[in-house]
Amino acid sequence: MSLASVMRAEGALLVPTYDRYRVLLRKGRGVYVYDDAGRAYLDLLTGIGVNALGYGHPAIRKALLQQADKLIHVSNLFYHDYQAALAKRLTRISGLDRAFFCNSGTEAWEAALKFARAYARTTSKNGAQPPWRILALENSFHGRTFGSLSTTATAKYREPFEPLVPGVRFVRANDVRDLERKFDPSVCAVGIETIQGESGIKPITREFLQAARGLATRYGALLIIDEIQCGLGRTGRWFAYQHHGVMPDMLTVAKPLAAGLPLGALLTTDAVARVIKPGMHGTTFGGGPLACAVAIAVIETIEKEGLLEHVSKLGEYFRQRLLELQDRHPSILDVRGSGLMLAAELDSADLAKAVHLGMLKRRIILNRTHDTVLRFLPPFIIQRKHVDHAIAALDAVLASAEKSVRAAVPSSARSNS
Ligand SMILES: *Cc1c(COP(=O)(O)O)cnc(C)c1O
Repeated sequence: MSLASVMRAEGALLVPTYDRYRVLLRKGRGVYVYDDAGRAYLDLLTGIGVNALGYGHPAIRKALLQQADKLIHVSNLFYHDYQAALAKRLTRISGLDRAFFCNSGTEAWEAALKFARAYARTTSKNGAQPPWRILALENSFHGRTFGSLSTTATAKYREPFEPLVPGVRFVRANDVRDLERKFDPSVCAVGIETIQGESGIKPITREFLQAARGLATRYGALLIIDEIQCGLGRTGRWFAYQHHGVMPDMLTVAKPLAAGLPLGALLTTDAVARVIKPGMHGTTFGGGPLACAVAIAVIETIEKEGLLEHVSKLGEYFRQRLLELQDRHPSILDVRGSGLMLAAELDSADLAKAVHLGMLKRRIILNRTHDTVLRFLPPFIIQRKHVDHAIAALDAVLASAEKSVRAAVPSSARSNS
């Protein structure tokens, strides 16, 4: 089918939850995806941080084909070879003790919220009401099921579906005073996205993370860290919290975990896992042999190819090149991020829109998040030449978009909205 006919068919048949780019993708190799006409696109978004090893990596292909031949699904009523093997790797790299596998980031976060409530019940004494309140941060994103959405502050995601799950309070990100003010004995958990991805690559400070850890410990509450987007190597360490010397009680991972197969994991301590009994929580598909075998190959490949170091190096190179660009383009207000999770914030939403669509015309994929922010989540295997190509294109696209956006908007009406 052609792009036009796919668009027509989807327009008639799908619930319109997405406004897609007008590109029909058919194939991927290395750092490139290819459209229906065989044109290559440099992919700096990787399926929103999922395809960290790029496309068609031989180790992934091998694990996938071998396991698909043997066994795809068994249900969680039986043992298979790969859940413990994957849990062993995930607990080693995170410092946590145990894993629960599911199918997505949202589900991992949902499990964390449920486990936090279940854990809190075991801490209350003499029939007192157990702590129930969950603190979450403004501008964080944890997913779209009722529980996960209830801890996601963004009004446009929440309002159409209210009322949501009660018991959540929002804290201003990086405002330790606000966190201290809202922490009390009714709190059972505080949830933090170490680098807020959907809201424009906004890092949580070391000071705030350490304060959250300290307060959680003091009140007997749990620190839940969401590294669904920033974890598993994206910042040059296995997890972003490892840059700050804090340890969570629970950790969620997903996006790059199984190279594009749906797989999420909640990692937790023995103390929390102890309160969960068979039957309390579960999933039909979660942690199946195919997804887990591929996830093992992902972690082994990151280790074998020295990709954490490569991510640090290339990330720093990419960041420096963006900073150079900022010197030439005052419309870039800020360059931020860590490793290969980077952002350039522009001075207007119109400009950011024009730039990211201009880049797509030049067949370079990135995205725009939080209206004004260009987000880069390139594959871990990216090379300097790809960064150079993207920066040169961005330079040109910015220059022409700056002119056309400024021509379209009278200067008196220009603002940072
Ligand atoms: C993407 C994302 C989620 C949701 O994950 P899904 O796999 O889409 O359910 C949750 N938290 C963060 C930080 C994310 O980036």
